[in-house]
Amino acid sequence: MIDHHIHIGQFYEQYYNPTDILRIVAEAGVGGCYYSSTSSCKEGVKLSAVEQEIIACTKQFSPDMMQPLLWYMPDYIHQGITVDKAFDNIPYRGIKLHPRNKWDLNDSKHLDCLHSLFGFADAHRLPITIHTGADEYEKPCFFEQFFDKYKNANIILAHCRPLDNAIAMFKKYPNLKGDTAFVPKENIQTIIDSGFKERLLTGSDFPITHYFSAKYGEKEKLLKTQYREDVVNFQNAKQSTPHRPPPPAEFPTKGQTHQPCATARRLRDQS
Ligand SMILES: [Zn+2]
Repeated sequence: MIDHHIHIGQFYEQYYNPTDILRIVAEAGVGGCYYSSTSSCKEGVKLSAVEQEIIACTKQFSPDMMQPLLWYMPDYIHQGITVDKAFDNIPYRGIKLHPRNKWDLNDSKHLDCLHSLFGFADAHRLPITIHTGADEYEKPCFFEQFFDKYKNANIILAHCRPLDNAIAMFKKYPNLKGDTAFVPKENIQTIIDSGFKERLLTGSDFPITHYFSAKYGEKEKLLKTQYREDVVNFQNAKQSTPHRPPPPAEFPTKGQTHQPCATARRLRDQS
């Protein structure tokens, strides 16, 4: 089983040492992972700084197993970084996009860049993981104009939020998948009951899971303890879900359980 959603690097005040994180993932016995660096979100960050983290990882872990994603920031356009150049430097295995990174779909430079990113993923049949969330500009449909055009891109909606919009996108575009990171159990069941079990990919969002349990849990866990729990959670998410009849009307839907407070939600949505 592969963990499609791992992070390394700086997340707010916490630094998650890249090779330590990948070692924990490797030792937990998962078959591999896709990872990206949250250091990419630091104000004014240079791609070269993020690449130092990735290079340290690729020296210790095969990029065929621990697979790095290019987290492309709109500011890289002004740094003259093209997707081809980035992939020439580093053995990336896919791309990560986050609408909160201020992608402006009315800006022609941003649009051109997004076409180059989706086009590259399409040409090389690579994953392109997109953060999704509750706010209007981070809904699964935010990048919809690219989904149909780049049919060979393996587009993954991280978190499948909000659920109704994620399912609507699954219905329209067969090349879309979703990961299980921070997806409540009942939402996973709804996705399965809607006929999209095969579109669900296992993903943990570790060590962001650790960040939130340290901040809001009863006591801070060791990183490896947290990850072992995350693995059990995502294994269960895929296994305990035979198809069953549609739920009755009063079946809890999105937003009814495990709602974090506003601050937790805001922080989590950065992940
Ligand atoms: Zn994440």
